[in-house]
Amino acid sequence: MRYAETGFNLEIDLTRGNIERVATDPKDTELYLGGLGTNAKILWDRVPPEVEPFSPDNLLIFAAGLLCGTPATGCNRTIVSTISPQTRLMAFSMMGGFWAPELKYAGYDKVIFRGKSPNLVYLWINNDKVEIRDATHLQGKGAIETAELIRQELKEPKAQVAAIGLAGENRVYFASIEQGKSSASRGGIGAVMGDKKLKAVAVRGTGDINIARPAEFFELCTEVLEYIKKREEKPIPGVMPILARLGSPQEMKLHDEKWHTESFMWGNARHRRKDFWTAEIEKEWLETMENAQKRLISCYNCPIKCSATLSIPGVPTYIMKCFSKLTYLMAAMSNLDFGLRIAQRATEYGVDAFSTPQVMAFALELYENGILTADDMPGLPTANEEKFFWLLDRIVRREGIGNVLADGTYWAAQKIGKGAEEYAHNNIKKHEQLPLKLSMLNPIYFLMYSTGEKINITQIEGQFPQMPFPTMEEKEDFVKDWFQVPDEKFKRYFLDWELRGEKAFPFYPTVEMCCDIVDWQERMHYIDDALGMCSGLSAFPLKPPYHIHNYPKFISAGAGIDMDEAKLTQAAKRYRTLVRAVNVRRGMRRKDEKPPEDHWKKRFPELEAKLLDEYYKLKGWNKEGIPTKESLHELELDYVSEEFTRRGILETSAETGEK
Ligand code: SF4
Repeated sequence: MRYAETGFNLEIDLTRGNIERVATDPKDTELYLGGLGTNAKILWDRVPPEVEPFSPDNLLIFAAGLLCGTPATGCNRTIVSTISPQTRLMAFSMMGGFWAPELKYAGYDKVIFRGKSPNLVYLWINNDKVEIRDATHLQGKGAIETAELIRQELKEPKAQVAAIGLAGENRVYFASIEQGKSSASRGGIGAVMGDKKLKAVAVRGTGDINIARPAEFFELCTEVLEYIKKREEKPIPGVMPILARLGSPQEMKLHDEKWHTESFMWGNARHRRKDFWTAEIEKEWLETMENAQKRLISCYNCPIKCSATLSIPGVPTYIMKCFSKLTYLMAAMSNLDFGLRIAQRATEYGVDAFSTPQVMAFALELYENGILTADDMPGLPTANEEKFFWLLDRIVRREGIGNVLADGTYWAAQKIGKGAEEYAHNNIKKHEQLPLKLSMLNPIYFLMYSTGEKINITQIEGQFPQMPFPTMEEKEDFVKDWFQVPDEKFKRYFLDWELRGEKAFPFYPTVEMCCDIVDWQERMHYIDDALGMCSGLSAFPLKPPYHIHNYPKFISAGAGIDMDEAKLTQAAKRYRTLVRAVNVRRGMRRKDEKPPEDHWKKRFPELEAKLLDEYYKLKGWNKEGIPTKESLHELELDYVSEEFTRRGILETSAETGEK
């Protein structure tokens, strides 16, 4: 018997219209867990680097994490993986909500799409009955509207629907997949879904999931719930509001946006507004939010309630996702009312709320500087906010200049030329990043930005405080109940860290300590993404309910896999290395591993080179960031090193330092 997982995937060939239910190998679960881990294995095995993102041979995988569908609080993530049209690397984007548990209850762990349908279709999974249905009548419909129309058509109000909007249909490189209160947005996975002519995946499941040792598992769940309650009652003092609590409380529950609005950049990541958050703004924004907000809501099986339903005059009711509340208004240098209005339209179109505002601000900066002209933007409105609506409409329709901008700032700049590349200044690995421009190099973030393959900084950080606390008393207070650390040495790193002087940035934490911290932070995110856990309850916040000490117990009692901390650490390292292997095979090298040039004013090239060298060493990668034969062998990934040898990747790089 299989526990926690169903042991079956659905394989859908959209070209032929074939549907197969395929049993999976339990050995793969032991080696790669589930979710992201087994997705990486499938992409490695079945999508060679010659396959282009928009090839029928590219796969689009919807996976429920290993523990999704079990009673583990907050375990509800769908991990969608494919090859990204924007980065040309592996994309793995997570969405919360209800879809993944529903898929498990229908009897499947993953749905793997290949090929391309001749016409627009959607997949309907109703327990054992699975069918590809015509969706031509849904062409051009919004993502949320589509979900509702499908539920009505199927007469199944409880169906969970993941859908694309117009942006996905038109293969916009930053198109998302939307699903009620959440979305999988990074890497342009919605564009791959649109390319396959797949409008939506609807699922209804009424079965059960087996738990290996139910009583023990329930006890662990109860402990987590009790800890969440305690942690919510006692926010961490001295840190920004988002880090004081669990989940994403700043999104809808809290209204203190001083930190984000004054620390992040506005416009095309250019303008810092240090005294923005005045008493008047606070009052105005609070009123706007209170008038709009109808009720707070949670993802499946979670008490935190990060999101809210919003109802604004003249705009259909919708659910605000994550940080979208601020990204559009900051790009447009506008107010919260504008932000809430444009986010609704963007959600229906199905676009990434981090990239899209930056693409639009980039276009307007090019226009202001004469690189784009009135001929490129015929009919551009004069009112600031209207310009953003105008651009958004053109991008998702790929009309005129929108067709160029729809490829994201990196590719658009290449096409536009005339120095436009200088304005696409906030990319890593060809993908738009958070608009942050800071002063002193932060060596921990330098490593995360440079080597991260999630292409989303907020999903790499966590666990270790972002800044030292001012006094020893505060530091000692923080470490005294910090039981989540994998090793006591992290407490020492933190206690010795100071705001100024020798034990401050950029030389403290030392290179070795930075490597340890980043490795721990990243490991926790990768574990979440294999188990399907919301990082808001695990890898992202300080002192979370899930950590390296209780995760092995959840896996043992839930999935019946004999697990301990060392084995879990090794498994996470294995599939993290496999993600890197997929990308290395697609050409990613050290030269691609760098933050935006202007991310920090004060840079330290020698230190940065050392950080990369040491981090690569810790990870078992050579100087080019390529996993070595020895480390691949230790991780039981000899098949990767054989392929690297066959393709001349390892030898060439190790000897010459570059491929
Ligand atoms: S913490 Fe927030 S985002 Fe995470 S599962 Fe709970 S409601 Fe969803």
